[in-house]
Amino acid sequence: MIFYKTDEEIELIRASCLLVSKTLGLVGEMIKPGITGKELDRAAESFIRDHKAVPGFKGYRGFPATLCISKNEQVVHGIPSDKPFKSGDIVSIDCGVFMDDYYGDAAYTFALGEVREEVMYLLKATKAALYKGIENAKIGSRLGDIGDAIQQYAERDHSYGVVRELVGHGIGRNLHEAPEVPNYGKRGKGHKLKDGLVIAIEPMINLGRKEVRQATDNWTIITIDKKPSAHYEHTVAVRKSGPDILSSHKFVEEAIKNNPEIQEISIKN
Ligand code: MG
Ligand code: MG
Repeated sequence: MIFYKTDEEIELIRASCLLVSKTLGLVGEMIKPGITGKELDRAAESFIRDHKAVPGFKGYRGFPATLCISKNEQVVHGIPSDKPFKSGDIVSIDCGVFMDDYYGDAAYTFALGEVREEVMYLLKATKAALYKGIENAKIGSRLGDIGDAIQQYAERDHSYGVVRELVGHGIGRNLHEAPEVPNYGKRGKGHKLKDGLVIAIEPMINLGRKEVRQATDNWTIITIDKKPSAHYEHTVAVRKSGPDILSSHKFVEEAIKNNPEIQEISIKN
């Protein structure tokens, strides 16, 4: 069942998303070669709790951390570790917050130090694919329009692999609600979008093959060919005025501008 949100509920989700976005900003200030995922995770958890909120992922189906931290061939759901990041790593940080009964959810993939050009290109294209999807999150469109826009851009235009096993989702009082929001699909097919629908759109795009598998930690999803994967996510409300992006990458991008060890991801078209 799909829960359409009232204006008041959308503002509560926006507030949770703002805290998520500021947490990603904090991560953007701290992340660099030499730091560990566990250090980032501890800082993110303190920051969220200092704002009288609760980490959205910690304890969710037993997930042990505040952030999902997934580097290189890890697609999503990576567990923060004590192993320092290196120059050349790409690191996807996914953050969820629960505050005043509503969740917010967003993700960003960082490029640390000297990242290979073809991998930088993957990051730019995945970020652009997110906005291709968001453009289609409007009243009267269908879920298939969002998926088709992302899939065509990633697969047809760039020959990347679009992950099938993991999808975006409705969000509100639950971290994951109906409907599922796949990053693939057919234009004109699927559920029709109505005012008040709030969804997390989150393309997971692989440099190589689309196939993934779960690692032995029973959480981390990795590409089957061990090639890198990128992930960007926003929480978006479908409104009469058009797509309303409730989360923001503004804070993380400001932080990256002032962080000499992290490369900016400028969207290519
Ligand atoms: Mg997320
Ligand atoms: Mg999500």
